[in-house]
Amino acid sequence: MWTLKPKGTFSIKSAWQGFRKPHFEVLWWKSVWFKRHVPRWAIIQWIAAWGRLSTKDILLSLGIVTDAKCVLCDIDRESHNHIFSSVFVWKQLLARNNICQDPGCLAQDLEWTTQNKEGEGLHNILYKLSLAATLYHLWRERSFRVFQDKKEDPVRVVQKIISDLRVCMSAWRNFKRTPLNQRICQDWNVSCNIQV
Ligand SMILES: [Zn+2]
Repeated sequence: MWTLKPKGTFSIKSAWQGFRKPHFEVLWWKSVWFKRHVPRWAIIQWIAAWGRLSTKDILLSLGIVTDAKCVLCDIDRESHNHIFSSVFVWKQLLARNNICQDPGCLAQDLEWTTQNKEGEGLHNILYKLSLAATLYHLWRERSFRVFQDKKEDPVRVVQKIISDLRVCMSAWRNFKRTPLNQRICQDWNVSCNIQV
């Protein structure tokens, strides 16, 4: 007798619902998937937030590599939290967003973002994109160093993130012409198409 339906009859739908893994809603999903997100940044952020990137600590535990040393600093063990807590790069972006706090680990930053940057105002969107762009570029830089033996200076990585964010901002429409929004556009030296 088929136990996944009250009447005991088999159906594909009941089988799918019975066998799939139970899922739960994570509170931080809105910090990754929001109206103006950049897909390639959001995908890396989403995978990283679930701890599913192939970082060296994971590869070491599986016996795939023999050395888990981080290629960004050449000192510590590479892990999700370690890569994305790159103090220098994220600190520059926090300062750009006028946020005076020490960078935390990935989980802490996502939690803080969820609690403090939920709205769709320009400053909130810009902050959320800054976090996503930082994760994306740090992982990109890490991959360049591992697979292509190429190395970019951290200052240059920050410049690239800021440049990408300015391109995003230049394309934005429908933000109100408030003093705050105008100041942000001036700070970032971007001609945002904000409305009256
Ligand atoms: Zn490191």
